[in-house]
Amino acid sequence: MPHAIRFHQTGKPEVLQWESFDPVAPAAGEARVRHYAVGLNYIDTYHRSGLYPVPLPSGIGLEGAGVVEALGDGVDGLKVGDRVAYAGGPLGAYAEVRNIPAHRLVALPESISFEQGAAMMLQGLTAEYLLRRTYRVQPGDTILIHAAAGGVGLMVCQWAKALGATVIGTVGSDEKAEIARAHGCDHPIVYTRERFAEQVRSITGGRGVPVVYDSIGADTFMDSLACLRPMGMMVLFGAASGPVPPFDCGLLAKMGSLFLTRPTLFTYTAERDDLVAMAADLFDVVSAGKLKIEINQRYPLSEAARAHTELEARLTTGSSILLP
Ligand code: NDP
Repeated sequence: MPHAIRFHQTGKPEVLQWESFDPVAPAAGEARVRHYAVGLNYIDTYHRSGLYPVPLPSGIGLEGAGVVEALGDGVDGLKVGDRVAYAGGPLGAYAEVRNIPAHRLVALPESISFEQGAAMMLQGLTAEYLLRRTYRVQPGDTILIHAAAGGVGLMVCQWAKALGATVIGTVGSDEKAEIARAHGCDHPIVYTRERFAEQVRSITGGRGVPVVYDSIGADTFMDSLACLRPMGMMVLFGAASGPVPPFDCGLLAKMGSLFLTRPTLFTYTAERDDLVAMAADLFDVVSAGKLKIEINQRYPLSEAARAHTELEARLTTGSSILLP
């Protein structure tokens, strides 16, 4: 029988259980995918901890790559044996095999391995919408990205650089600063030691940046706003340090007619046409060598709890995958 990671109560990584299950035939509109690699993402820790509540017991994980093993009725454009990858859909990617709505799947180009596919879909599509859709980065822009040596962070650094931007990135250590620098971050700032808002003002000659991509939340939110130039855009897309407390919107006026958005990948990829276009854009930059997928951690799928512990302890850099 195949295995999957499930959890019956929210809490620390130890709540993640390795369980066997009886696979059911895919329902109408679904495909069964045999995973060759599964993506590890920070959002998985929010589901496990209860920050993003889900009905229990639950599977976990939103990203994987593998081969189509069976199809339910009414699925067009896919056949058994196709190489596919996905980000999003129902939880349950931490599994050797799973059923998933077929409209979430994209064909994985031959030039991209299963490991790369599982590492890049969720974080790479996020980089795509952040840089190309939420705030469209222009050559000559100076941008600020937090957690620049992380999974999303290293992708944003490389992609923004390829678009002609100057990249300022915050990181938790000197070692991470070097990793970010090697991936296009012009100005790494160790925000556990330096006041990043002051550094950003100094780097930009006092002007501030047109956009901040902030996935840290509680610890950085107010200082991120202080980095923006008038009419700049605050893109709050995560909460690694905890959620931002209730906020007085009047501050946006006082701080320079700022824009604030709280986007999620799942809104941007809800329409099939958008998902396909974003994936094509991502595969293009990877195939062109502008974006290298750095898989710096690999864990057996059965050891997902250890992977969560290391991710939350800020011990990882780049992307991480789980191997069935
Ligand atoms: P990362 O690899 O970036 O890991 C998280 C990083 O956050 C850590 O390595 C650490 O880097 C930093 N961090 C800062 N403060 C803390 C803290 N208190 N506890 C733990 N980590 C902290 O993860 P991902 O690339 O998977 O995701 C990055 C962020 O983007 C997450 O917040 C995630 O939720 C968000 N996200 C949002 C999406 C959306 O559509 N809204 C989609 C995808 C991701 P350092 O030590 O350098 O500070």
